[in-house]
Amino acid sequence: MNTENFRKMFYPDVCDDEWNNWKWQLKNKIQSTDQLSRFLSLTQDEIKGLSLKNKNLPVSITPYYLSIINPEDIDDAIRKCTIPRPEEAFATEGEAIDPLSEEKYSPVHGIVHRYPDRVLFLVTTTCSVYCRYCTRSRIVGEDVHINDTESWEKCISYIQSRPEIRDVLISGGDPLTMSDEKIEWLLSRLRKIEHVEMIRIGTKVPVTLPQRITPELTAIIRKYHPVWMSIHFTHPHEITPETQKACTMLADAGIPLGSQTVLLKDINDNSETLKQLYHKLLKIRVKPYYLYQCDPIEGSVHFRTSIEKGLEIIQNLRGYTSGYAVPNYVIDAPKGGGKIVISPDNIVQKSDNKVYLRNFKNEIYEYPNNPGSPCTDCVQEYANAL
Ligand SMILES: *Cc1c(COP(=O)(O)O)cnc(C)c1O
Repeated sequence: MNTENFRKMFYPDVCDDEWNNWKWQLKNKIQSTDQLSRFLSLTQDEIKGLSLKNKNLPVSITPYYLSIINPEDIDDAIRKCTIPRPEEAFATEGEAIDPLSEEKYSPVHGIVHRYPDRVLFLVTTTCSVYCRYCTRSRIVGEDVHINDTESWEKCISYIQSRPEIRDVLISGGDPLTMSDEKIEWLLSRLRKIEHVEMIRIGTKVPVTLPQRITPELTAIIRKYHPVWMSIHFTHPHEITPETQKACTMLADAGIPLGSQTVLLKDINDNSETLKQLYHKLLKIRVKPYYLYQCDPIEGSVHFRTSIEKGLEIIQNLRGYTSGYAVPNYVIDAPKGGGKIVISPDNIVQKSDNKVYLRNFKNEIYEYPNNPGSPCTDCVQEYANAL
């Protein structure tokens, strides 16, 4: 089914103006088993998952995002990412509720300061859609007081007091679920801080709620350049005309766009799916930035795949497609070590002055390392003879 047929079937009385209005989409988000079963014939597992008690993470899907699920396919990628399963209730060894120890690196409520020159600024706990593998399920969907101006003021004072912070990453929750006024308030306050060279927004809204990207919003963002955007993409099915339009508007507003993708078992963990996604992203001017190994969040075992799989995917991309289509494959180290890039080991052997390298076709090439000093006399003799 496509979005048009979905609308005809389930929202015949909703006019274009309403459907294309992001506030309507948010007001009508689907949150319960009863609501969901109107649209999809839910499996036993899904019904159980939806009725789990003590679930950390609420359920929410915008009508638009639901419309791109194929109802005939119980293994649909977007369906798996958004509808809980019973596995979510079980913690496996090595899993944690705050796997990246963000709380430990939080000098002020709402700030994570892990790297010397940049901070993560969590401005809201709300998302339009809750991804079941969310790294921040400990806070999202809950009212933990990071989305009021009083707590924002404290975060901004912290950034102001640290001249080494040149890069602020606004995330949450999803910052673009907030009003234009709040977004402008934050951007304008951050832009006033001289040492803040760049601002980034981390969001999935262009994918789950593309209607939110309005001319008013892009006009606000462009006033505070340089503003970059990292968009959470998971699967090629997400690149619809709506998302394409949203990304075009953002790119036309001069916002450099990057994608962040979590490697998810049986959802996108094969090179064909990711290559397709990355090609589609480049066509809409989004540079694949990070491919994340899935964080060991509690109840995520059914989403996680092996590092070997990730490396194999990178190996199948590098050399076989544009370099721009190949993201950095990273593990955000448990306990707060930060992002660590992992890549296929291409140095086969090293000696004092030679390095043997493996290319994308698995052929070995030799590079002369440590060239030593030039023969000054020979160069001089040659130059004199000219
Ligand atoms: C990911 C992250 C950043 C940004 O890292 P980049 O590699 O610069 O994109 C900054 N702070 C925290 C805490 C992060 O998790």
